[in-house]
Amino acid sequence: MIQRKILVTGASRGLGRAIALELGKLGHTIAVHYGRSSAEAEEIATLIRASGGQAVLVQGDLSSLEGAKAVAVAANEALGGIEVLVNNAGITKDGLVMRMKDEDWDAVIDTNLSAPFALIRAAIRGMLNAKWGRIVNVSSVVGLMGNPGQANYIAAKAGLIGLTKAIAKEYGGKGITCNAIAPGFIESDMTEKLPEALKTKYLEGIPAGRFGKPEDVAAVIAFLVSDGAAYVNGQTIAVDGGLYAH
Ligand code: NAP
Repeated sequence: MIQRKILVTGASRGLGRAIALELGKLGHTIAVHYGRSSAEAEEIATLIRASGGQAVLVQGDLSSLEGAKAVAVAANEALGGIEVLVNNAGITKDGLVMRMKDEDWDAVIDTNLSAPFALIRAAIRGMLNAKWGRIVNVSSVVGLMGNPGQANYIAAKAGLIGLTKAIAKEYGGKGITCNAIAPGFIESDMTEKLPEALKTKYLEGIPAGRFGKPEDVAAVIAFLVSDGAAYVNGQTIAVDGGLYAH
């Protein structure tokens, strides 16, 4: 297998942690991006090195376009080029539309949609030169099906699916693929915060009869960034135990 230079954003916790560890285990070089969780990020880099991969740390705030651009520059320097970009970092600031604060709308759109756009724009030049590249955007199944109380998050995640298709059409002829993952209910810090009643309701609708694990998502991303996935482009793959089967 060819070893790639991969930037995983938000790799310090949750899904990003599992994605970075899985790709590192396959022998790739991972830029472990983090915002605040430096100790966790360092631990992940150590685990990646122990499993046979290589790792560099990239710190940076993705809550603005400028911050995202700076992360792209830092990752590019640390890796010596970005061949694979996994836009994983994301936040929620839930609330009913009538009560949603302007700053909560902006924060979620900026971090979950605008930052991935800036990172893609920064990374794609190198991918074009190399005539090879892989972009995976971590969206959400609620970006496909909707959910009350998450208008900002759903708009951002649905926007990310649209961005995925746009990039796939613009650069699909240049050896670059861009796909999205739509995780369902995955056990993580983010989902820990959800009310019990909502968790029970979700579980009832999941044919798999369980919540997902970060590793379930990581396995699909490992495939999407591989050479074997060269003909998969512009797709959104739900990793949700059948929650959104349609
Ligand atoms: P998480 O455990 O809360 O971790 C979020 C990660 O994003 C952390 O590594 C965090 O870094 C980073 N991050 C957040 N805001 C940042 C910022 N402004 N600047 C830099 N880094 C920032 O989240 P998760 O549950 O693993 O979710 C990961 C992705 O999957 C998100 O895009 C989420 O929307 C999506 N998703 C999750 C689920 C689920 O069930 N968990 C379902 C569908 C989709 P630091 O801690 O270092 O600051």
